[in-house]
Amino acid sequence: MSELRKEYDHVQDEKARWMGISLARKYFVNQEKRYVHPFHIFGNVWYVGDNWVCVHLIDTGDGLLLIDCGNCGATAMLVQAIWEAGFNPKDVKWIVLSHGHMDHMGGANFFRRMFGTRIYLGEPDSRDYRERPELSLVHQTGNLADELFEPDYEIKDGDKLRFGNTEIQFYLVPGHTAGCIAAFFDVKDGDRTVRAGYYGGFGFNTLKKSFLDDIGDTEHKTREIYLNSLKKVRNQHVDLFLGNHCTNNDTLGRAERLKAGDRDAFIDDRAWGDYLDRKRDELLALMQDPEQN
Ligand SMILES: [Zn+2]
Repeated sequence: MSELRKEYDHVQDEKARWMGISLARKYFVNQEKRYVHPFHIFGNVWYVGDNWVCVHLIDTGDGLLLIDCGNCGATAMLVQAIWEAGFNPKDVKWIVLSHGHMDHMGGANFFRRMFGTRIYLGEPDSRDYRERPELSLVHQTGNLADELFEPDYEIKDGDKLRFGNTEIQFYLVPGHTAGCIAAFFDVKDGDRTVRAGYYGGFGFNTLKKSFLDDIGDTEHKTREIYLNSLKKVRNQHVDLFLGNHCTNNDTLGRAERLKAGDRDAFIDDRAWGDYLDRKRDELLALMQDPEQN
């Protein structure tokens, strides 16, 4: 048997083995089925994510800012969505990452190498990339080309940073990961200005007993940290709640309403508080669940 054939068989065997052990595999195959035609949300904010992981594009007047850059393996879809929205991917000057997980940072290396895009990541997640890279879950994509990186800027709690015409107030909201960020900024549309709010990671997958025990948080302190983070930003005034995943703010339902002519489909000054309260209640319920303790 040729060396080439041996190598081929070996890689196929490894792939089959990985498919057998990775619970996350379903998120990294057939991703094109999740494509969403990009749409204009409000003011200078556009949606260029898929039907699972949100990506927002902000046209700052001095380059494009992306909040997150999609699932690993979905970069071609993101590039397509940016073009389809009427922009050029080479104008993406900055990417702000909600947190360090593999379903949000998938396009970072590509954009930086291809266009010189500067990557922003919460300082604790940047530290975890160096010290505890397994927490990024990047190995679960099954793609050897997916790699971690050093961000160009580490976001600190309380940072206020300007991107073209948009000034963003950042806070760290640890819980889902240690370096989740929350972001608040004004969005102007004609003579109206609304306050956008973004919370970078709600999932409970990293709060489950099995996960916390495995990473060494046997007292499950991460759950208290998560609750405190919700409290920290709960009373921010938010008119435009941007999702981290589509389920957070019913991104696709609101998109349908936009399409039907409701220009304010995303303007809702109760959505932020209601959703953060819902996550608090769900987490408190999880903490009461005997199987999770
Ligand atoms: Zn995550």
